[in-house]
Amino acid sequence: MPRALVTGAAGFIGSHLSEALLDRGFSVIGMDNLVTGDVANIAPFTGRDFVLVRHDVTNFIAVEGPLDYVFHFASPASPVDYLQLPIQTLKVGGLGTHNCLGLAKDKGARFLLASTSEVYGDPLVHPQREDYWGNVNPVGPRGVYDEAKRFAEAMVMAYHRVHSVETRIVRIFNTYGPRMRVNDGRAIPAFMSQALAGEDVTVFGDGQQTRSLCYVSDLVDGVVRLMLSEVTDPVNIGNPDEMSIRALAERIVALTGSSSRIVEHPLPVDDPKVRQPDITRARTLLEWEPRVPLDEGLDRTLAYFRRKLGI
Ligand code: UDP
Repeated sequence: MPRALVTGAAGFIGSHLSEALLDRGFSVIGMDNLVTGDVANIAPFTGRDFVLVRHDVTNFIAVEGPLDYVFHFASPASPVDYLQLPIQTLKVGGLGTHNCLGLAKDKGARFLLASTSEVYGDPLVHPQREDYWGNVNPVGPRGVYDEAKRFAEAMVMAYHRVHSVETRIVRIFNTYGPRMRVNDGRAIPAFMSQALAGEDVTVFGDGQQTRSLCYVSDLVDGVVRLMLSEVTDPVNIGNPDEMSIRALAERIVALTGSSSRIVEHPLPVDDPKVRQPDITRARTLLEWEPRVPLDEGLDRTLAYFRRKLGI
């Protein structure tokens, strides 16, 4: 039975990934310091072959016994979180990645880094292909996340080249689904909780900026395929279905049947104007394709927020 470590296992994507690995017969060690994670996210699979270790991976990581795979998913990941936790964000991307790579090297485990479309910054190439080097402001408020992940990618490639660690890098585009924190500040949790409460729905700027939204089960499927593939170079995983943030807000208001108004709030600094993954590499190398249409994904996510908010 393969044994995997998932850092950030009590987080949104980490918990879905852990569950998907259990479904595929893995034994899973989850690690989380619960800064942005929540033990409620792992409740659906407690009692299975899963243990949660409460640990901050910016400190030395000790795991007893053999380990076949390390999935490094620990990090604050919403703009609101990494603005509030800038030093933790830099440390988990820098020191945390270093510790996880050291562990993978020691155990002879294969390592996968959860990187991000934020490495492309406010992109000047559209859609974004993996060979685009990005347009990132290192000293802006988002720089703590973007540069931590860029440093992490460089560290991964160095461990691959110098120590021959088997490594994978996934660049995750906007992902949504159940287990996102209601108040994590991202567009979908914000719009859904506002619409369900009948409050104003806050579009930042004029809402003409675009994002491409991937349902979490599709994302996790791509991540597992990548880990089990032989692809060392970075691979975008995301849904190319691009839309404006205003259109997303309108869609969510309509879906909830809410009478909420859509209002404009100031656009955050360095907010990317466009974002859409070119997924040619994932399609050809992993035979991966997103399957869940937006309306279906939004329905499932809305059902979760209704339960969570008791509305
Ligand atoms: N956004 C918004 N209202 C909100 C939260 C976010 O209009 O209450 C916008 C945000 O400015 C960005 C987009 O929605 O243009 C996606 O933001 P999110 O925080 O979900 O992720 P990002 O793609 O910026 O990392």
